[in-house]
Amino acid sequence: MADRKEKRGKKRCTAIVLAAGQGSRMGTKTQKQYLDLAGRPLLYYSLAAFQKSEVIDDIILVVGEGQIPYCQKEIVERYQFTKVDTITTGGKERYESVYRALLVMEDGDMKVPNRDGYVFIHDGARPFVDEEIIKRTYEAVTKYRACVAGMPVKDTIKVADENGFSKETPDRKFLWQIQTPQVFETALIKEAYFRLMQEKGLAVTDDAMVVERLMGLPVRLVEGSYENIKVTTPEDLPAAEAFARKREIHKM
Ligand code: C5P
Repeated sequence: MADRKEKRGKKRCTAIVLAAGQGSRMGTKTQKQYLDLAGRPLLYYSLAAFQKSEVIDDIILVVGEGQIPYCQKEIVERYQFTKVDTITTGGKERYESVYRALLVMEDGDMKVPNRDGYVFIHDGARPFVDEEIIKRTYEAVTKYRACVAGMPVKDTIKVADENGFSKETPDRKFLWQIQTPQVFETALIKEAYFRLMQEKGLAVTDDAMVVERLMGLPVRLVEGSYENIKVTTPEDLPAAEAFARKREIHKM
């Protein structure tokens, strides 16, 4: 009963899946989001996780220039990703791609508007996001307004000086490697990005940074998983292939 009540009162959750990068570090002819992993395109896996999720209501997919028809036919229709509401074209940098997706939400182009819900921003290059991560970040965002998935680092991290010498060794227990999804209240992330586009000059590598710096809000760190890797260089492919096969065997 309590469960049903909560579901009825649940705010709308939109996933923005980013797949507009060039993937040049992979060095393959096929763009990395379309590379074959255990028989399916890399981009399939994160879309499947959001499609199946109890938390997510709809998806905005951001792809490269000229790729909308291909993605519509070969990914969205082929695998019946019915939650994909809009496919839009990204920008040159990741933050521009995020901004374009937020504009889709702002302009009321979605079938059902998401004004006071939550936005899950996710790298399409991270195929192994799963329902547990989605649920953990959802719980955290309802409490803290902004959160990101990540994992404590396993290696010692050093800060280097300009000459390539070790300058500092921060205490490892405070260091996290940040992943996606990065999850925010809709109004908060929209305001943060609108300010970013006016300010310019901030070197943005993730969405949490935009909220920390431009909205002054602390962002909660939430446990992701060590399998939630970003497939970036050829060395990542054997691990990704193994994780994809494991999912296939366990029907995850
Ligand atoms: O380049 P990087 O590995 O940081 O990209 C992270 C994610 O952001 C990838 O899924 C990539 O496709 C996406 N991206 C994007 N638009 C860009 C650059 C990256 O959607 N201009």
